[in-house]
Amino acid sequence: MTELIAVQGDITTLQVDAIVNAANTSLLGGGGVDGAIHRAAGPELFAACEKLNGCATGDAKATPGFRLPAKWVFHAVGPVWQGGGRGEDELLAGCYRRCLELARQHEVRSMAFPAISTGVYRFPPDRAARIAIETVRTHAERSGVETVHFVCFNRETLDIYVRLLRNFSPPVER
Ligand code: ADP
Repeated sequence: MTELIAVQGDITTLQVDAIVNAANTSLLGGGGVDGAIHRAAGPELFAACEKLNGCATGDAKATPGFRLPAKWVFHAVGPVWQGGGRGEDELLAGCYRRCLELARQHEVRSMAFPAISTGVYRFPPDRAARIAIETVRTHAERSGVETVHFVCFNRETLDIYVRLLRNFSPPVER
């Protein structure tokens, strides 16, 4: 069974096979976790992203991790929160599902997700975490991924994940 772990920290430092980026449709960089990943991966990442011709909301595309400890970066485009009536839940679930498909294609065993859409895109953190956990639990087994880290940038997000994961399996807090 795939292990789901909540951790607090900077996703760019994780030694996993793949980290997920919360990108925008251009894939040409932004602030938040996207900016941190591009800074840590180096300019080769930008060059690789330029060749991808953007990405639709709810979808994800893969590049190498370049100077990151992670071998791959899966660039997922989450929805901008507009009140919940514009298909935001399904689009966010799509990000997690597509990243697990990419994980299967790239034979990834360990991966890490940030809390996609909960920064500048303003998705309510609790609702986003429920979608993240439910989608990963539904699709992780088939993907062949053994360990999924949910990387929380702050204590509040970590508390949400720890609480939700406790309902399913024993969480590991680091
Ligand atoms: P979005 O545009 O999808 O909302 P953001 O990058 O603004 O993307 O925020 C997504 C989440 O990533 C937020 O919860 C934010 O706190 C978090 N975050 C920002 N920097 C990092 C980082 N270096 N590692 C992990 N999470 C991060």
